[in-house]
This record gives sequence, C-alpha cells and structure tokens, in this order.
Amino acid sequence: MNWIFVGASTIAAQHMIGAVRAQSGHDVSWIVSGSASRVSRWAGDHGISNATSELSEALADDSASAVYISSTNEKHFAQAMAAISAGKHVLCEKPLALTPTEAAEMVKAAKNAGVVFGTNHHLRCSGSHRKVRDLISSGRIGKVLSLRLFHAVHLPENLQGWRINDASAGGGVIPDITVHDADVARFLLGEDPQDVVAQMVSSGMGRGVEDSAMSVWSMPSGAMVMSHESFTHPFAGSGLEVHGDAGSVFATGVMTQEPVGTVELVTASGREAIAFSGHSLYAQGVAEFVEAMSGTERPAADGVDGIKSLAVALAVRQAAQTGTRVEITYGEFA
Ligand code: NDP
Repeated sequence: MNWIFVGASTIAAQHMIGAVRAQSGHDVSWIVSGSASRVSRWAGDHGISNATSELSEALADDSASAVYISSTNEKHFAQAMAAISAGKHVLCEKPLALTPTEAAEMVKAAKNAGVVFGTNHHLRCSGSHRKVRDLISSGRIGKVLSLRLFHAVHLPENLQGWRINDASAGGGVIPDITVHDADVARFLLGEDPQDVVAQMVSSGMGRGVEDSAMSVWSMPSGAMVMSHESFTHPFAGSGLEVHGDAGSVFATGVMTQEPVGTVELVTASGREAIAFSGHSLYAQGVAEFVEAMSGTERPAADGVDGIKSLAVALAVRQAAQTGTRVEITYGEFA
C-alpha cells in the first residue's frame, strides 16, 4: 500500500517514513513539498520514487490510498481537505489546523467521504503512557486527584525556525507542545478538560510567539491538571505524575519521541518499578491507522481527539492573553 507524504519535514524524515516502512507491504511513494528545487533531492535522500510540488499531481495517483501531512501548521487544513476530496485516508500532524473550526471541518469532511482520519498524537502510542493509563483505570491509585505534566524542553537548533518566529505558520509552544499535553491528559484520565487558567511568556527564544506556558485545567471529575511547556529549558527533563487517594504514579522522561523513561508506582505497600513495552511510538501509531483503514479498529488518536487537543491548547493561550479563566467548548463534539 502506497502513501503520499505532504511536507518534506524533519518529523517525516526522522520518524514517519520509517514508521510507514515498518508496516508490512507499506511504502511512501510520493513526497510533496512547496519547493520544486528541494523536493527531488529530498525524495532521492529518502528513496521515494515520486516527487512533486503539486499536491494535485500526487493525489491523482490511484495507487496511493493514504496521505500523511506534516507541513507547517497553517497548511494542514487546505492539504487535508484536498486529500479527503480525492478519497484518500488522512493521517494529519498536530495541531490539525489553526482553529478548532477548521479542524472540525476537516474531520466532518472525512466522515462524509467515508475515509479514515487520524491525528498524529504519538505520546498516547507509547508503552509508558499506556501503562500509566492501565494503572489508573485498574484502580491502582484510587480516585485521581491530580495530574502534573512536565514538558519544558529545549528546542533543537535545527527546529528554531517557524516555531519560534512565525505566528501565521502556527508557531509558539502552545500549538506545538500544549496540544500534545492536552491529548495526554484526555488519554490518561478519559475525560475532557472543562476550563483553564494560564500564563505564557517569551523567555528568550520566541519572537512574536510564546516560548513557555504554564496552565491549570479542571476536569469534570474534580481532578486538577497542571501543565508546563517550554522551548527554553535545556536541563529540566520531562515527565508526568498522577496522584490518587490510594497511590501515585511517577513517569520520568516519558514526554518524548523515543520509547524511553521509567514508570514507578508508589502506594502504601511501597515503591514498585513498572515495566512497559519499548515499541516505536510512531510505528505503533501508523500500525493502528492501518488497522483503521482496514475497518477493524479506530486510529490511536482520531480526528475528534485532534479537535479537542487543539481546543484545549487555544483555550490555554486565550486564558494567558486575557488573564481570565476560560471555559473550553467542544461544540458538537462535546
Ligand atoms: P520542519 O520545520 O522540519 O518542516 C516543516 C516544513 O518546512 C516542511 O514541510 C518544509 O516545507 C519546510 N522545510 C523543512 N526543512 C527545510 C529546509 N531545510 N529548507 C527549506 N524548507 C524546509 O517541521 P517539523 O517536522 O518539525 O514539523 C512539521 C509538522 O509536524 C508540524 O505540524 C509539527 O507540529 C508536527 N510535528 C509533530 C510531531 C509529533 O511527534 N507528532 C513532532 C514534530 C513535528 P515543504 O514541505 O514545503 O518543503
């Protein structure tokens, strides 16, 4: 089965081409880039047989049935809508679009066209996050009181482009990382944040966009979520903690692209190291998308998950901009 990749991006090169090729019988047959001069070289570097700067040329290829979109964020909407119109299944990068309204339009168009739509939220595909969710749902920590998300990292130099200086391309740490944290909270706790208070700053890297944010979300169950994202923290490390009335889970180094980190459960019986699967996060996400295309499963994160993570992230930004508590609305997807 052939895939069209839209966006000659770092994530495609570093993780997603390999994730597709890890699936038996799957390959990337097209790369689409906005740059005619760059696309042929990129295709050659990655062993992709067809290269174009015209999305419509790739979409006209009936031998390709799936499209993966990893262009800059402002392009996702039009590219996804074109792919859906061409009858292709779409796995789109986060944030799905610049607004939840656009994201909802994409998801509804896919539903009407009868194609699968997935959001590439990789963290919920990791063995560590799935194990933490299992510990919570099996009652090992009792009633969940709070979740703390530590996702303040240092943006590598090669990614210090549109993310830190181009609001129109969807730059800023909130659309980049807070969307992931919103998905993690929803995935782990099985409920949608209902309102948020927040602050954001530009602390040395962001130019015209925020590079750091802290926020607190309330959940319908009464649990509180504390979330910290940054591009400017070289040594902070990442992780999450879930605290319940019968135990706590400490997952260290797990807000990452690799299957690394540790998970520990602490209860009245003591401290216990929890083993988890070390599979590739991205290959797992693609495998579940492939299952969804065959009609047997849903994608790891579907379109509604992508709409909701974006809604939470943009509410964080609004709360920080206005200094008010912002209620998060999910419209018809509530
Ligand atoms: P990049 O900055 O690497 O690429 C984005 C676009 O910039 C490319 O599509 C390409 O445009 C252009 N570009 C990239 N490198 C060059 C270059 N050397 N010279 C000229 N143009 C270049 O973005 P990322 O890979 O970091 O992110 C892409 C998308 O993926 C974003 O939506 C992001 O949010 C998401 N992402 C998701 C991750 C996840 O884990 N789910 C992780 C990282 C990113 P063109 O295609 O037109 O040539």
